[in-house]
Amino acid sequence: MVARAARAADLADLDGAVSDCFACPRLVAWREEVARVKRAAFRDQDYWGRPVPGLGPPDARIAILGLAPAAHGGNRTGRIFTGDRSGDVLFAALHRAGLANQPTSVAADDGLTLRDTRIFAAVRCAPPDNKPTPAERDTCAPWLHREVELIRPSLRVVVALGAFAWAAWWPVLRQVYGRRPPTPRPVFGHGAHWSGESVPALLGCYHVSQQNTFTGRLTPAMLDDVFTRAKDLAGVD
Ligand code: SF4
Repeated sequence: MVARAARAADLADLDGAVSDCFACPRLVAWREEVARVKRAAFRDQDYWGRPVPGLGPPDARIAILGLAPAAHGGNRTGRIFTGDRSGDVLFAALHRAGLANQPTSVAADDGLTLRDTRIFAAVRCAPPDNKPTPAERDTCAPWLHREVELIRPSLRVVVALGAFAWAAWWPVLRQVYGRRPPTPRPVFGHGAHWSGESVPALLGCYHVSQQNTFTGRLTPAMLDDVFTRAKDLAGVD
């Protein structure tokens, strides 16, 4: 699997290869079980039930790093943050920021395109309770590392959605940029900002989960602030 990720010549190749990954037995079983049982509201739909690749152009200057696909969102539609409440909040914010051509993301063929932005997850399969194990995170890391490597020429800023994504970034520094991560690791928080020489800046943002957005812990205005900062740091108009 590591070799397959490393061999991916471009994003299209990587997206195809990751979609065919079966490296984590627990997650393979879960993604397929969810796709078979379905949620009642979606019982007439064919679920994707496979790993979910990244989304966005190869010359992205901003990356948004999430945790993992949602069982009835990305795992259903086959596109990251698509078809769930988290995506509703995220894409509305990206549209306000001028980084998405439409404020909604409901299906893989809905016409959504991103500008200057690539979205991907630290773990590419939906995990039970949204909680991958450390071993699953590490097994999936080569896909993330290769994806960052492929957009490295343009990438300037990474927005980490939540502490899991924030923590998943540090090994990227070593694997992709050949840089030693800072010690101690900077602490995650909403609005946290870390920058190093010749590597993308890292911005912390509370995850766009319902748990955060329904309770007001993360508001649209807070997301707007993060994307305004990300655009400034990335030099995106
Ligand atoms: S989580 Fe990642 S490594 Fe594990 S099966 Fe899915 S795509 Fe493969």
